[in-house]
Amino acid sequence: MSLTYDVINPANESVVTTVALLNLEQTDAVIAQASKAFESWRTIAPGDRARLLRRFSEVVSAHREELAQIEITNAGHTRGNALWEADNVANTLMYFAAAPERLFGRQIPVPGGIDITFKEPLGVVGIIVPWNFPMPIAGWGFAPALAAGNTVVIKPAEYTPLSAIRLAELALEAGIPEGVFNVLPGKGSIVGNRFVTHPLVRKVVFTGSTSVGKSIMAGCADQVKRVTLELGGKSSNIIFADADIAKAAAGAPGAVFDNAGQDCCARSRILVQKSAFDSFMEHFEIAVKKFRVEDPNLATADMGPLISKKQFNAVESFLDEPVAFTGTAPSGPGYWMPPTVLLPKNTQSRSWREEIFGPVVSVMTFDDESEAITMANDSEYGLSGSIWTRDIGRALRVSRGVETGALSVNSNSSVRFWTPFGGYKQSGLGRELGPDALDSFTEVKNVFISQD
Ligand code: NAP
Ligand code: MG
Repeated sequence: MSLTYDVINPANESVVTTVALLNLEQTDAVIAQASKAFESWRTIAPGDRARLLRRFSEVVSAHREELAQIEITNAGHTRGNALWEADNVANTLMYFAAAPERLFGRQIPVPGGIDITFKEPLGVVGIIVPWNFPMPIAGWGFAPALAAGNTVVIKPAEYTPLSAIRLAELALEAGIPEGVFNVLPGKGSIVGNRFVTHPLVRKVVFTGSTSVGKSIMAGCADQVKRVTLELGGKSSNIIFADADIAKAAAGAPGAVFDNAGQDCCARSRILVQKSAFDSFMEHFEIAVKKFRVEDPNLATADMGPLISKKQFNAVESFLDEPVAFTGTAPSGPGYWMPPTVLLPKNTQSRSWREEIFGPVVSVMTFDDESEAITMANDSEYGLSGSIWTRDIGRALRVSRGVETGALSVNSNSSVRFWTPFGGYKQSGLGRELGPDALDSFTEVKNVFISQD
């Protein structure tokens, strides 16, 4: 039986192309090929592996327009975002291209000889990618994995396989040897699950829903398989009355509605200090109404459509709470939804507690610093968040108090390839990016050499 999937353009519901999905036997064949390629990839001289990754980065850069266009059409991403995403892949590859030649071990003082450690690659790394940021999330897995000497098998989300398929062609064009970088379009239940159960896949990097993440972690336990999880979020944008309220309000739509809110870092809870509430909401309404939801091909677009009808329906189910105001969205075909600002009744409201993954934000007030921290931490998630204040001491205290992995002060950006990214609590396990990411793709081997 051959499986196929019709890729849909979410901005107009047209069929873009049909992609063949791998079955179990085909998946096993690619994993075997990746395992075979590992034997030679791991032994390539560090400088040569670095050069190949730099070349891969350059080839991605040379195709940024094409890759961005794929993501605009396949995922409804705005042109600005899609270009950033293609560049992020190139930048992440270039950053980790410096790693093969700097993958230092230690020399540890011991009696009777010398003791040294090596950072050894794991083998085949399985990367399971969601549909919300197909290119960057794949890159955060494959760039450090390859740099550390592993080979990769990548399962893109069914909705969004096209950019990963193209990256696999570009990898070959850049000279990455056959079998090192493999993309396997397919179902989560078949290809994704096989990464968990196949003994030659030594590590799984998963980004997606918390529920699937839990089942992946449980499945990996069977082989004590290494796992990194990047899961959901319900992050807070905490705005103190002493902040530059106009600036905080102007940035707040982008902090949650970027990528139509389909972002694990979305600041979908806004906490405003009571005395600043009226002023904030006045500025925020103007900013939301100015947020341009339109054809994602337009350079002016701030937001495109949702990924699917299913996601649209899931997000719509949150719209039964009191609405403060909304933005606008196109009508007609496509999964369009206007940005919507809710005023939930209390902290038990569904919109306050659950990850919505759509252009919906909930606003509540707080009295003081300690209440803000308590409200922000009242969640099983802990991924990102923002703090707006002009008081440096408060910025520090609140940063230390909020239980999340990636915070920003007087800014809403939480992702940089130079710095660690990942979640507290049920938002995930482990960290990606930054100087320590290589540790997640290597084993430490200790060797003692006797002097006698
Ligand atoms: P999902 O089911 O967790 O999918 C993420 C990836 O895992 C996809 O590639 C999916 O493949 C694969 N997968 C699904 N079931 C699997 C299994 N049993 N074993 C191995 N792999 C499996 O997420 P979703 O259904 O696309 O989205 C649902 C919700 O998850 C969203 O509304 C949002 O709340 C959250 N989410 C979070 C993030 C994030 O960045 N943290 C990203 C996406 C979604 P298929 O494409 O074949 O299903
Ligand atoms: Mg799913």
